[in-house]
Amino acid sequence: MCEALASIAFPAPCRICTRILDTGSPIPFCRACTEALTQTLPEPLCAQCGRPIVSAAAAEGLAAPQCHLCRSRVYDFDFARSFGAYTPRMSRAILLMKYGNVAPLGGWFARHLAGLVERQAQGFGADVVVPVPLDRGRLRERGYNQVELIAKPLARLLGIPFRSYLLVRTRPRPNQLRLTRRERWETVRGAYATHKMARVDKLRVLLVDDVFTTGATLDACSRALKGAGAARVVGLTVARALPRSSVQDAGLLDQDLGE
Ligand SMILES: [Zn+2]
Ligand SMILES: [Zn+2]
Repeated sequence: MCEALASIAFPAPCRICTRILDTGSPIPFCRACTEALTQTLPEPLCAQCGRPIVSAAAAEGLAAPQCHLCRSRVYDFDFARSFGAYTPRMSRAILLMKYGNVAPLGGWFARHLAGLVERQAQGFGADVVVPVPLDRGRLRERGYNQVELIAKPLARLLGIPFRSYLLVRTRPRPNQLRLTRRERWETVRGAYATHKMARVDKLRVLLVDDVFTTGATLDACSRALKGAGAARVVGLTVARALPRSSVQDAGLLDQDLGE
């Protein structure tokens, strides 16, 4: 009640662009930011990893076009898809979930991911939803795994069991903030394992993470799950890091944020 009155007296700013919110939205974003966040990735997408294929002409006429990485079989997971591009706005939204513990945001992203899954229900058929885990140290420090804020409501929406204990991170991520492409692959190689009490045999896993950067994390998790007998691993992330040029071409850049 107090909170409701306060929001009338002191309208809340959008947590992304600081514009004053004009609606009673359950998420703290203005309409312009919400619209930008819900823009889908430019098609065609690589059939395996879900990366927008830069040269659309090369993909023309192919039922299942693949990017150069997937053609050289880099990834272990069966396929992956993402909700939107990792733009400056999206990065702020994800940071809010990571450090601001804005739980309704997890539910909001989950609804959008559930929509994506339902549009391709056959391909996404899964027995369990598993979030990419944090290592123990980081979990203690932050108090929660932000990926669970998305994966748990997603599992509920899809009517699939949520199994956060199946996968564990056995080696911590280095503290260094920015990692090169090569370092990203090196720090996650062998860094995940299935829990010793977990039964993964023949399971079809829907693996959830917040951002697909190089795909190294989903790849490492998939190797751990399939090594333990999983039948299939499909990756699903909220955001997808894209080369700046393709973000620009698709008009996804947040011009008005000055970035
Ligand atoms: Zn805004
Ligand atoms: Zn690909």
